[in-house]
Amino acid sequence: MTTTKISSPTYGLYIQGEWREKQNTSEVINKYTQESIAKTSVADKGDIEDAVKAAKESLDSPFSPYERYTILKKAAEGLIERQEELALVLAEEVGKPIEESRGEVGRAALTLENSAEEAKRISGEGVPVEAAPGSENRQAMTLRVPVGVIAAITPFNVPLNLVCHKVGPAIASGNSVVLKPAEVTPLSALMLAEIFEAAGLPAGRLNVVTGKGSQIGEWLTSNNNVNMFTFTGSPRVGQIIRERAGIRKVTLELGNNSATIVHKDTDIEHSATLTAQKSFNNAGQVCISVQRVYVHEDIYERFLSKMKKVTEALVVGDPKDPSTNIGPMIAEKEAIRVEGWVNEAVEQGAVVETGGKRDGVFYLPTILTNVKDDMKVCRDEVFGPVVAINTYRDEEEVISRVNASEYGLQAGLFTNSLDFAMKAAKKIEVGGLIVNDTSGYRVDHMPYGGVKKSGSGKEGPKYAMEEMTEERLIVFNL
Ligand code: NAD
Repeated sequence: MTTTKISSPTYGLYIQGEWREKQNTSEVINKYTQESIAKTSVADKGDIEDAVKAAKESLDSPFSPYERYTILKKAAEGLIERQEELALVLAEEVGKPIEESRGEVGRAALTLENSAEEAKRISGEGVPVEAAPGSENRQAMTLRVPVGVIAAITPFNVPLNLVCHKVGPAIASGNSVVLKPAEVTPLSALMLAEIFEAAGLPAGRLNVVTGKGSQIGEWLTSNNNVNMFTFTGSPRVGQIIRERAGIRKVTLELGNNSATIVHKDTDIEHSATLTAQKSFNNAGQVCISVQRVYVHEDIYERFLSKMKKVTEALVVGDPKDPSTNIGPMIAEKEAIRVEGWVNEAVEQGAVVETGGKRDGVFYLPTILTNVKDDMKVCRDEVFGPVVAINTYRDEEEVISRVNASEYGLQAGLFTNSLDFAMKAAKKIEVGGLIVNDTSGYRVDHMPYGGVKKSGSGKEGPKYAMEEMTEERLIVFNL
């Protein structure tokens, strides 16, 4: 074992406040050039045991809410100080356009800043037990106590901010973390560990382990010193973690085939522009990316024509070029998968209005019409730059078509009808309904999380901290 900073050619594991470089390594690829940009260490079972042990032991040392606040705030500042460097890493490891990458770093800093603020607001409540006959001489209150060791497992698409959504609230609420970032995009998470180290985070409160997801997942879920799992990723893996976690706490932030309704009373230009932007962000690899659009038939032609115009103006290319709107997908096999889904839809009668072509790891932003709800591009999560435009006539009909999905993360609704908006708010089965915007709206302190196959539990620091603490009742017999 050697201690190394992550600036060495091989990035170490971060365990108990030390960098541990391994012989066994894995290459991280620049998703645009397909060249190797770094190597990360592959953790073995002993490393995972050490990381969990370090996390558990760190809980024995006092760590006050104010100390947590100070360190999280310093880490947020550290992210901004290294914003450009981190944005370049995101552009390379994800293939995310540089402007979007800078935006992700800025949002990650806000997530940590909000976590810092919430560290000072953890509170229980008074419980009026004296109201029960025979309990007149008693008083009670609740405390919110940390769950303990939290295993955090994160996806490739937003590898810095989604890590901050787990690490920030976990530290703010007095827990310790073993983080397993996605194998294809681990570098920004390792840099975050370096930022926390510089901010003075006590050793063991954050440990970062890299390697194969299924293997590390198995070691983490079979380690009884892990008290909670917080996972963002695919429903397939979410299901495995849920099964292996047993009776321990689990938060799951999973996929979606997000719908957005565009009603006949809305501003067509505005809604079409926003919809085009939010369908193709990060090459459509966003869990709330617009995938199913339901446009009222009276405005369909005008909406489609504007949306095509905006989509065709999007620049596809090198993520580091500031004029690029859409970069490569995470891997060629994903672009090939999307190509297969679009081709299948076309065989079943769908029409490609624009795009519909693959060039290596790129898939062009694609609008499909004449689609049916049971086509794969509508029914399953595409997680690529493809949007399907449907028409509808009736409010009730469109609500039931939006709900005819296994998923329920967020939905969008453009309308000026308060009546329709309230009806939709009550009936659409999602974690969040965004009125007069698309499903793709998120700020980091709002409650965020889905229903049905989109998962369970909420993120957003305040809400994640509720998941990451237990309510303990204290009764005083006076
Ligand atoms: P993924 O499920 O393939 O991987 C996610 C993480 O799980 C990675 O770190 C991976 O290494 C790890 N993993 C893989 N197998 C595992 C196992 N058996 N046990 C434990 N961990 C394992 O997901 P992905 O391809 O990285 O991300 C795409 C998915 O994430 C999409 O479905 C997307 O909708 C979803 N997502 C959801 C949200 C949300 O907030 N709801 C946000 C972003 C992405």
